[in-house]
Amino acid sequence: MTSAKIIDGSQIARDLSSRVAADVAAFTSSTGIVPGLATLLIGEDPASEVYVRNKRTAVVAAGMADLHHHLAADVSQSAIAALIAELAADGTVSGILLQLPLPSGFDSAALINLIPAQKDVDGLTTLSAGLLARGVPGLRPCTPTGVMTLIDSTGINLDGATAVVVGRSELVGGPMSRLLLERNATVTVAHSHTRDLESVTTRADVLVVAAGRPGLIGVNHIKQGAVVIDVGIHRTDHGLVGDVRFDEVRERAGWITPVPGGVGPMTIAVLMANTLAAARMQAGLPT
Ligand code: NAP
Repeated sequence: MTSAKIIDGSQIARDLSSRVAADVAAFTSSTGIVPGLATLLIGEDPASEVYVRNKRTAVVAAGMADLHHHLAADVSQSAIAALIAELAADGTVSGILLQLPLPSGFDSAALINLIPAQKDVDGLTTLSAGLLARGVPGLRPCTPTGVMTLIDSTGINLDGATAVVVGRSELVGGPMSRLLLERNATVTVAHSHTRDLESVTTRADVLVVAAGRPGLIGVNHIKQGAVVIDVGIHRTDHGLVGDVRFDEVRERAGWITPVPGGVGPMTIAVLMANTLAAARMQAGLPT
């Protein structure tokens, strides 16, 4: 039996990032506009600080403007709302990203929904989710969009393929299932109430796992030759692990993403692509 081919998310993300940087340069030279990403970090959560730092570094590397705002954890909900309103009206701001989770006590959904759809580079507002549900063009959530690029890199024809998504969150599983459906896959969504998960996942030509449960998926969940995408990411004493038991699953899958180096790097690369797409939309250009 041969072992699965590895989907090299790091390389695919690097390729996407260089294409975005070239497109930003062309956009700026033809319009005079430098796309700008406003990142909002509230409080001092160390993991959020790292995520925001990585996003800001990528913004600069892509030739875009890094418009960062760091507010103390004791800021009021209305002060954050006022800042989002200001950024929404500011023509130099192409995209607005509110880093989640917020410290306790804030209504994140209410704040996210203040971001205009054209600047919603995370694709998380109710309006953006509605556009996706209706198949209307708009900015799509970064992680599921990145997963679609990884699936496409395998060359699999999604039209009519059986796809299973484990997880139904607003951030990952929910939009993931809609993106796969848009491509005419036959999509099943599994979640924590699903009975006999193995019988569902073993039907999948494409299996996307976003359950947030380390090692949930083993070889017995896999159809021979399937494309397996592991969105999960967990810090353990043995390093980063995903929701998929990589070493056993790779013996039956056709393609598999590693953790780290699979889905993770794609998320930031797509955020950069979304920021450029937002700037193009605001300039009245096709995306
Ligand atoms: P989440 O909001 O906790 O959602 C988890 C989903 O998985 C829920 O829909 C839940 O079902 C389902 N689930 C939980 N246990 C299950 C089980 N035993 N069997 C089947 N389904 C189960 O998590 P998330 O935000 O979607 O993130 C999922 C994972 O992806 C996390 O590990 C997160 O760290 C990772 N992530 C990675 C990236 C990246 O860039 N690499 C980005 C985002 C997230 P219910 O709806 O029934 O509760």
